[in-house]
Amino acid sequence: MNHNLYLQFYPHFERHPDKVLIDTPQGDQYRYADVLACSRRLAGVLLSLGVTPGDRVVVQVDKSPQALMLYLAALQVGAAWLPLNTAYTESEIEYFLTDAEPRVYICRPDDLAQAQGLASRCGVAHVESLGVDGEGSLMQKAAAAAEETRIAEVGRDDLASILYTSGTTGRSKGAMLTHGNLAANSQALVETWQFSDADHLLHALPIFHTHGLFVACNVTLTVGASMTLLPRLDVDQLLDLMPRATVLMGVPTFYTRLLASPRLDRERTANMRLFISGSAPLLADTHREFSERTGHAILERYGMTETNMNTSNPYDGERRPGTVGMALPGSEVRITDRDTGKALPDGETGLVEVRGPNVFKGYWRMPEKTREEFRDDGFFITGDLGLIDDKGYLNIVGRDKDLVISGGYNVYPKEIEQWIDELPEVSESAVIGVQHPDLGEGVTAAVVLREGAHLEEAQVLAALKDKLARYKQPGRVFFIDALPRNVMGKVQKNVLRERYADTYQAVAGAQ
Ligand code: ATP
Ligand code: MG
Repeated sequence: MNHNLYLQFYPHFERHPDKVLIDTPQGDQYRYADVLACSRRLAGVLLSLGVTPGDRVVVQVDKSPQALMLYLAALQVGAAWLPLNTAYTESEIEYFLTDAEPRVYICRPDDLAQAQGLASRCGVAHVESLGVDGEGSLMQKAAAAAEETRIAEVGRDDLASILYTSGTTGRSKGAMLTHGNLAANSQALVETWQFSDADHLLHALPIFHTHGLFVACNVTLTVGASMTLLPRLDVDQLLDLMPRATVLMGVPTFYTRLLASPRLDRERTANMRLFISGSAPLLADTHREFSERTGHAILERYGMTETNMNTSNPYDGERRPGTVGMALPGSEVRITDRDTGKALPDGETGLVEVRGPNVFKGYWRMPEKTREEFRDDGFFITGDLGLIDDKGYLNIVGRDKDLVISGGYNVYPKEIEQWIDELPEVSESAVIGVQHPDLGEGVTAAVVLREGAHLEEAQVLAALKDKLARYKQPGRVFFIDALPRNVMGKVQKNVLRERYADTYQAVAGAQ
């Protein structure tokens, strides 16, 4: 049997060729038939470049309908899709090209000269550019190519993609995702979120990341729905489009930015059936304010590059703020002790581990790392800490790497951040552990104040005094303009740890 993920999408291309699959805020429209024809031509071009099943195709292009057509073409020929962030620097790209050894590297037309230099240094045979048109670009070659209708035969465990992790905790790792992983995950999400071909998705996420690619696009294609592709988050554009859309998938910053617009209200969101958030924790305040303004309870889910999506709050039933819900159908979640690895009862905090058809096959060319992160019974250690609450909902407490061990005690940053965030002057905060001569690590807070608000370090410390046990209280509080975040909106605590690394050295020196 052919397990090619493309076959999960294909019936819709036959069923409603004249339906619009992708449109843009500028009014461009691409019907299912247009996307099929163009992706088949692109598949023909990939084959002419010698791409065979399992070959890596590195794609570093702007978000566009053409990029999605290329994604379908790569699936069709059985290549492993390897998207890269366009913001990467030359030396970062060099690392990825050397690591991935792709057959083809596809870049933006403007980056062609740099790409050719990089490709020759890294031994990549073919460099192509992808724009809407443009002399010598892939789209022009596709226009002249014949449609390729054969669909590569692949097994469930064959590679569909290598997706690099966001690099929040260290160097990005290539996660090997199979056709089986991606097919199972989009089916589970369709079931959980009750997607149908009547849905119209507002797509403002990047497409080089699991959220914008394997959640947003695969779910849309699995049910034969439609979507508007926005190049990036533009709050006014989103609000303009909302009356004719049904679903928004976003990261928490989407929701805080939407809330900052006076145009967000019940009337504008009346046609929407679902607002989804993930990739980083959604603050309970944002959840509450959004539901007061619009009547919609944001549905929070949890996932990662290696596993696609793991859990989701229910579609019907209580969407609990501050939690990421329950395991998706077909998947399992458990909590284990971070020292002994033994399973923990509900209510206790430990490592979040997941198992299921969604879980990747391993890290690309990192067999050792892969072995370390899997238990013998197949559970993957996510690197996140969490607990399952009294109603069975998973709470993500933070990353294991961000756990602060101060004076021998485990301090979970989120607990302290929640108390700091409750202060009316505070917009957001991040708590980190910084090397400390006596305690090992000193609890340290970086706080962003609301516009126009004023607060002193001593006031924050005083406010926490009777809220938290002594060992959890920050040694220092710093005020900063904004928390450092990566493109997915994730707080980069390693940047903060570096910035405040010397904090307690001065303390030691003074003693
Ligand atoms: P790296 O693994 O390279 O350090 P990363 O873990 O940020 O980077 P991703 O795979 O993009 O790379 O992100 C997955 C992580 O995002 C999860 O492990 C978790 O820490 C966080 N995350 C995702 N969804 C949520 C959520 N709803 N609440 C809290 N954290 C979330
Ligand atoms: Mg990670």
